[in-house]
Order: sequence, then structure tokens, then C-alpha cells
Amino acid sequence: MKTLNRWLVTAGLVLGAAPVLAAGAHDHGHEHAQAHVHGAVQLEVALDGPTLSIALEAPLDSILGFERAPRTASEKQAAQDALTALRGNALFAPDAAAGCVFKSATADSEALQPGAKVGEHADLDATAEFTCAKPEQLRRIDLSGLMTRFKRIQRLQAQVVTPQGQFKQTLKRPAQTLTWGR
Ligand SMILES: [Zn+2]
Repeated sequence: MKTLNRWLVTAGLVLGAAPVLAAGAHDHGHEHAQAHVHGAVQLEVALDGPTLSIALEAPLDSILGFERAPRTASEKQAAQDALTALRGNALFAPDAAAGCVFKSATADSEALQPGAKVGEHADLDATAEFTCAKPEQLRRIDLSGLMTRFKRIQRLQAQVVTPQGQFKQTLKRPAQTLTWGR
């Protein structure tokens, strides 16, 4: 089972989706690594040479409190503010020992596109990339920025792939530091 899980982790990262794991998930129009559960987000962390890549997939509800296009001015503002925060550098803080420098970040949700048609559920995808001077020193990422900014996130399921190995971890509030390899 352990071997299978590892294979699935690798396959998920390589192919960008692991349909095998989608059993039990509702249909949201695209494949998910895990079921869509409000309050629970998925985090994929990959270290490749000096490049640290973080990919977040969250139910839009966990980010905004609603799962559709924003209607009111305040909802529109909240959506814009959330995207701005996710595209910034205040959410993920890699281990200082690794000397990681923020490079770029993206955030988008189909539901927030103009004229979007949203079904029962909607997700938001975000990425962040860092370049690390000492990637071999990276053993933790402080997620307090993320957890503080987005209070509806209750649980975070993380997959970490580094040259030292692959790790799976589930964080539940109030925990907010992802650690591995110790
Ligand atoms: Zn939903």
C-alpha cells in the first residue's frame, strides 16, 4: 500500500492529476486528487534543484465563503482581495535556513471568470514558486500566513516531494507548519 501511495503521489505530480484517487469525489468538471470537502485544501510541494514549487487547490468556499461568481460589490472586492493575496508573497514562508527567494505566484478560479457557469462546487487553484540557495536545508514551510488570511481553511492535506523522499501530511488547525524529513 505504501508503494502504491508513493506511485500515486508521483503520478499525480507528473501527470498533474490522479484520476485513480478521484473515486468518491463529486464531479466538478475536472479531476481531483481528493474529494472536494469544504474547509479542506490540498497542497503539493515539490523541490526540484533550487526550485520550490507549491500548488494549492482549495474549494472556493474555503477561500471566499461562497462558491459562485461574486454578486455584490463587497463580494467582488473580497474575491479580488483574495486573488491579490494568493498572488503575493505573504502566505508561504519556507525555512529561512534554505534561503528561498520568492519568484512568482498565480491564483485563479473558473468561477471568478466573467460569465462563468458554476455547478454545485467550484475550486480555486494557486501556485507559488521560490528559488532556494540551500534547498537541501529545506525541511519546513510556515503556513501561518495562509491560515491567518483564510480562516475557513480547517485542514490541509499535503504531499511533499523532495530528493530526500516523499511525504504525506495532514495539518489541522491550529497547526500551521508543514514539516518533513526529521
Ligand atoms: Zn464546494
